[in-house]
Amino acid sequence: MIPGKAGSLSLIDVPRPVCSGREALLRTNKIGICGTDLEIIQGAYGEAPLGSDYLILGHECLATVEKPPTSSPGIKKGDLVVPTVRRPDGCLNCQNGESDMCLTGQYREYVIKGLNGVCSEYSVSDVNFLVPVPPELSDVAVLLEPASVAEKGVMQTFKIQERMTWRPQSALVLGTGPVGLLTTLLLRIRGLNVTAVATRPKDSLKARIVEKIGGNYVNANEQPITGLGKFDLIMEETGVASLAVQAQGLLNNNGVFCLLGIYRANLATQDIGHSYDDIVLGNKITFGSVNANKRYFVDGIQDFKTIQHRFPGVLKSLFTRMVGLADYAKAYNPTKDDIKSVIAF
Ligand SMILES: [Zn+2]
Repeated sequence: MIPGKAGSLSLIDVPRPVCSGREALLRTNKIGICGTDLEIIQGAYGEAPLGSDYLILGHECLATVEKPPTSSPGIKKGDLVVPTVRRPDGCLNCQNGESDMCLTGQYREYVIKGLNGVCSEYSVSDVNFLVPVPPELSDVAVLLEPASVAEKGVMQTFKIQERMTWRPQSALVLGTGPVGLLTTLLLRIRGLNVTAVATRPKDSLKARIVEKIGGNYVNANEQPITGLGKFDLIMEETGVASLAVQAQGLLNNNGVFCLLGIYRANLATQDIGHSYDDIVLGNKITFGSVNANKRYFVDGIQDFKTIQHRFPGVLKSLFTRMVGLADYAKAYNPTKDDIKSVIAF
């Protein structure tokens, strides 16, 4: 696409990328499409590499290593890999493997900031940012990037709660897009009772997936969330600020609230004195989480193995649309009931 230009999506021929230094040449197997991609093709954001007048989409990827660099312990030709999406700058956190915690914002990122994405037959990546995928996960591993975002939110939640003795039992997940469903799965395999809220009917695929993994699905159009009781942790993934504010009141004492959405400007009148009092008197925490570094992809591999064992077939059921490259436009036009669209190369 032309960066920032809505409706400029097209399939074009580009030169095969050439790897240098520590880069591996990758052959793409599958690309997943998410809400961010849809916003980017509307022209909302996206930044091409310096000097390029087009931007290649794609940040959720499963690929095969076509040509590894000469020295690349652990990665060889033919390996299945998932590349992480962000590349570090020189800041303290980036230099310590935490580009998701970048201090400066000068990192580079597939499609979003100065790097072409991977929705092309070939791409290159620094070998340090490739996550090896075991063959038994090959049919679901394209979900690893969205899962890494959920992994970070969940892991950070538990890390923060090491501030006290904490035995959470109940969790609320707002939003049942791919990241919301993956979050629900991660919390279910950790033994929590999970209520997932969205606006699709009870007989929708999303609702059925939540119920199938032992969660409780609530259609917010039929049942106000204020009547759902209290929760030890809340994961907000809808990006709807008014819903997030409502949910804040559903936190148990010592509870933690994780914001994972992208929020639009939204002026509201509320009693902030009471809200702060509630946070103080209940030892509550609200925090934000964005992106994910390699460790969360690696954690995701382990959790995918557990999910495949506990809930066979569920990860695969998130793929509601799989098309070939020639039909790419269909992948970028999901319906309300689609969960994950994939382009299979
Ligand atoms: Zn940085």
